[in-house]
Amino acid sequence: MTTDIEIARAAEKRPIQEIGEALGITGTDLIPYGHDKAKVSASFIAGLKGRKQGRLILVTAINPTPAGEGKTTTTVGLGDGLAAIGKKAVVCIREASLGPNFGMKGGAAGGGYAQVVPMEEMNLHFTGDFHAITAAHNLLAAMIDNHIHWGNALDIDLRRIVWRRVLDVNDRALRDVVTGLGGVPNGFPRQGGFDITVASEVMACLCLADDLADLQNRLGDMIVAYRRDKTPVHARDLKADGAMTVLLKDALQPNLVQTLEHTPAFVHGGPFANIAHGCNSVIATKTALALAEYVVTEAGFGADLGAEKFFDIKCRKAGLHPDCVVLVATVRALKMNGGVARADLGTENVAAVKKGCANLGRHIENLRQFGVPVVVAINHFAGDTEAEVTAVKSYSEARGAEAHLCRHWAEGSKGISRLAERVAHIADGDAAQFAPIYPDEMPLWEKIETVAKRIYHAEEVTADPRIRAQLAEWEEQGFGNLPVCMAKTQYSFSTDPKRLGAPTGHMVPVREVRLSAGAGFVVAICGDIMTMPGLPRVPAAETIRLNRAGEVEGLF
Ligand code: ADP
Ligand code: MG
Repeated sequence: MTTDIEIARAAEKRPIQEIGEALGITGTDLIPYGHDKAKVSASFIAGLKGRKQGRLILVTAINPTPAGEGKTTTTVGLGDGLAAIGKKAVVCIREASLGPNFGMKGGAAGGGYAQVVPMEEMNLHFTGDFHAITAAHNLLAAMIDNHIHWGNALDIDLRRIVWRRVLDVNDRALRDVVTGLGGVPNGFPRQGGFDITVASEVMACLCLADDLADLQNRLGDMIVAYRRDKTPVHARDLKADGAMTVLLKDALQPNLVQTLEHTPAFVHGGPFANIAHGCNSVIATKTALALAEYVVTEAGFGADLGAEKFFDIKCRKAGLHPDCVVLVATVRALKMNGGVARADLGTENVAAVKKGCANLGRHIENLRQFGVPVVVAINHFAGDTEAEVTAVKSYSEARGAEAHLCRHWAEGSKGISRLAERVAHIADGDAAQFAPIYPDEMPLWEKIETVAKRIYHAEEVTADPRIRAQLAEWEEQGFGNLPVCMAKTQYSFSTDPKRLGAPTGHMVPVREVRLSAGAGFVVAICGDIMTMPGLPRVPAAETIRLNRAGEVEGLF
């Protein structure tokens, strides 16, 4: 079998100028980063206002399992599929975080014959956006400690500094650290810690910003610490927002690359899907909508988390109107949702597929609550049997959602043409009547309850009185209109990762709430969330190396 990296390496890439030209991005508007990557200039983007908008298609999935679903693979495949039937399509996906690539195997460029290239670079340093975010984030951290060192005019309470440091390496040893040791010249010792770069609020700000001015505003609004009287200290109070924006000016410009079939792809931004909203940048999506007839984009995790945040945070805030949702399911993942162990996935088991379809059914029902038509994409794996695929199709159709078998991973665009035709037709039909699931004016606690009850199907939502009081305080301070960003396990509708299928009667405990005042949401943490991952016992880094030809091996 040919691996993803072998397929990507064999790709005959077109010069990036050709890809840009097809979209009308020429001359100095296209800023090349080597031969196969480019950024789109801010001035070109500013000139797109008022253009006719293309159709927006979201790719999401059932709850993830170790069996694999293939959201990115399907996003890329569908983009190619639309292009192959003569439509002007653009793919919009997230950039990869460096840290996890050296931990567990697996990249973010899609797979098989539905990939974005150059995949090695996309999964490594790419155009340096994440490094810029790391630098901007840590500059602010340094400015906080420096401010305290030189007299602490803002009266920052050393025990209430909430701004941590970031690094794009999985390193559990840095989760909790003491900084400022070594005596007077090194400042005041205090407890701090590191998160992974993608968990930085700077990342979320960059992904939701409209332009540089909006970015600077958001950065300035970020809360970094509290005073002894508990009033917040913002990045603006430290005068850090200007310099941070300077560091991020190139990073805010979307990156243009191509798929294996030369469909343009914007790969830009990558906020964590738990403590942030998990979608590519607003600026890339809006640029794509102004340039193409169809824009295919992806949200992280399953539809209960990813699609909900895409709709309730990204679309609400950016004024986007999705036209169609593609819900990716695989026979393997449905089998696991039906109780089959990973080791037994190779054996046909129609009964388990049917049982696992409860998970699919609930996502279909949930997505309809946002008023957007749903189409199921069955991402075909080599071992799937006809009877199993038929079971998924009949189940979906019985619930009023058409389902199409797609072989884009093995065949590229020709394996997904039926889905492409149907999605284009449905998106063009103007059937979508998109609305977020709760209004801006709803109190914060009710917003959390709405998502937990209507999307997770929880019986009850609980929280300590301390948490309810915190939400009420933020409402008084004027943050009541913000959307909520739910952080829970991606594996289950419940907060227990082992409860697969479509659980009912569960309770959702809200353990902590955090205000991301710059990004513009309130994070509700339901369960354990990790903002600095660790490496596994045998990290992928042990097998990543250069071969004799100087090519990267072992990354995938
Ligand atoms: P997601 O975006 O849902 O996390 P990806 O699209 O990144 O998933 O796919 C995860 C992995 O599964 C990739 O390595 C990809 O090559 C593989 N994969 C996806 N679809 C298929 C398929 N139909 N057959 C075999 N492997 C697949
Ligand atoms: Mg993905």
